[in-house]
Amino acid sequence: MPDGDHSQFQFLDIAIVGAGPVGLYAAFYAGLRGMSTVVFDSMAQTGGQLQALYPKKKIYDVPGFTAIFAEELVQNLKTQAERYNPSFYLNTRIDVVRPFQNGFELMSHQNEFFFAKSVLIACGLGAFLPRKLDIQDAKKLEDRGVYYIIRNPEQFYGKRLLIIGGGDSAVDWGLTLVPHAKELTLIHLMKKFQAHEMNVSELLKTSARVKTEYQLKAIHGEDKVEAATIVNNVTGDEETFPVDAILCFIGFLTNLGPIKEWGLNIRGNGVVVDFDMSTNIPGIFAAGDIVYHPGKIRLISTGFSEAAIAVNNAKHYISPSEKVQPKHSTSLSETKN
Ligand SMILES: Cc1cc2nc3c(=O)[nH]c(=O)nc-3n(C[C@H](O)[C@H](O)[C@H](O)COP(=O)(O)OP(=O)(O)OC[C@H]3O[C@@H](n4cnc5c(N)ncnc54)[C@H](O)[C@@H]3O)c2cc1C
Repeated sequence: MPDGDHSQFQFLDIAIVGAGPVGLYAAFYAGLRGMSTVVFDSMAQTGGQLQALYPKKKIYDVPGFTAIFAEELVQNLKTQAERYNPSFYLNTRIDVVRPFQNGFELMSHQNEFFFAKSVLIACGLGAFLPRKLDIQDAKKLEDRGVYYIIRNPEQFYGKRLLIIGGGDSAVDWGLTLVPHAKELTLIHLMKKFQAHEMNVSELLKTSARVKTEYQLKAIHGEDKVEAATIVNNVTGDEETFPVDAILCFIGFLTNLGPIKEWGLNIRGNGVVVDFDMSTNIPGIFAAGDIVYHPGKIRLISTGFSEAAIAVNNAKHYISPSEKVQPKHSTSLSETKN
């Protein structure tokens, strides 16, 4: 708690922790309900997993868009939220949320203090990091031929690529890059892919060499990746071949981190919520991938719905005379576009 007279601090209506798609949509909705809003994210950019993990991938299941690049959806959400001028604090991890006076005090990792009458936790998976290869020289050659996140696919055009993984990221990047790569090999530890079946069969029709039950044994190269050795984990057969880049999509590690200390009811890696997205602490709501409820599905579309439910209930919480049910957005004045 900061020193001095706390009554001098301005309590905003809602503090949104997490500027992923759900936090951004919540910021828009809070603005629509006339709430003063502040949004925090520990990363340098908004967009959560979409911006950090798959900015160049197309999303096909967001209502109203037949297909949209993840980074474009983030930009649209940001523009939509900015209609109401919420304050954004990026590079700001919230480490503490605790009841204070009639609302909450939030403390960042740099010991800055913020005050809000209600809080929405939209922290997704918490702090997330790609799972890295546990193999000699993988660390040394990171970003010099070993990659875990693709920010600029064009850098791999005309290159010999080895993709590791059997999930959607690996297979989708295989499909995206195979028309542009000089050669592309994809290896997967198991026999069966976790990726969408349709995409796996599409990949099998391309020139990609797809090898199941294989894993990476060694990376060769001093200053950059030059070759890789893979091994069949059933027969033990080994193969060494030249590669320019190894793209690894072997999942990511998540950590709720400081959120665990906020007195919230946690189940697994989720914050337990009620039907109105309220948590066990009155005034704190949660939405998106971070929540646990029995019917939870981790999708952008379900997160949007939870954000709208949470914010409308937060509005009613801070101003009980205001209804939970909002007016329809179609009744808005056109003076603000
Ligand atoms: C490869 C891949 C493909 C996917 N494809 C689809 C798809 O096609 N369709 C679909 O619907 N879903 C898809 N998803 C899932 C989708 O990305 C998630 O459901 C969505 O990102 C959840 O949004 P969110 O805002 O709840 O969380 P996130 O996107 O995880 O954002 C949470 C944000 O909170 C921040 N944060 C966490 N802790 C703190 C803290 N203490 N202080 C400040 N900030 C904090 C994080 O930095 C992050 O930016 C995909 C996911 C992956 C990994």
